[in-house]
Amino acid sequence: MTAAAIGGMSRFADPECRGMLWHEPIGERPAMSYPALLLDRDGVVNVDRRQAVTHRDFRFMDGIFPLVRHAVDLGYRVAIITNQAGIAEGDFTEAEFLCFTEWMIAAFRAEGAPIAAVYCSPFHPDGRVAAYRRDSFWRKPAPGMILEAARELELDLRRSVFIGDRPTDIQAAAKAGVGRKILLGEGSDPVADLTVGHLSEVRGLLTGWRCCRRGSPR
Ligand SMILES: [Mg+2]
Repeated sequence: MTAAAIGGMSRFADPECRGMLWHEPIGERPAMSYPALLLDRDGVVNVDRRQAVTHRDFRFMDGIFPLVRHAVDLGYRVAIITNQAGIAEGDFTEAEFLCFTEWMIAAFRAEGAPIAAVYCSPFHPDGRVAAYRRDSFWRKPAPGMILEAARELELDLRRSVFIGDRPTDIQAAAKAGVGRKILLGEGSDPVADLTVGHLSEVRGLLTGWRCCRRGSPR
């Protein structure tokens, strides 16, 4: 199945390397590749609260909509790359997560900030639900979701940006070869290229980076 054939929620049958994904139909494959803004979900897209799969528990991070709008305007494809071990823990179901993700994507779209895709790993090696109790190449800090996004969305990872709030996010981005790895928060990470305290700081950075010609990041 090609990316162009997929629209809305999908669950892949290959349990060895894939979790779930959502993305917009993108039409014919382009001859060029795109830079991407890749976002962790909990702690970057939304305030990190356990079991944030209902409207009551979910609150968008301040600045996320302007950031995504700006990135799309600059030609970035925006995707969400998220571990959801709560599925493996039995805290919520795959169906609940997928249903909520549909709502989340619609909220972005209503804000003029379209998300191209959502990649999710439901696995955890100590999970209580047997079907998801294992590690996976799709589970960060492994790079599987990012590499799949690159393949599906025709991304140039060297010209792409990943924003995460945990070292595992940064490690996954590094393993995938993402050019710019940003840690959001107050901590530091030896692999991150920089740390920002607020998403608004990334907007100006994207503008500067996008003005660079293609090739190696500055
Ligand atoms: Mg996070």
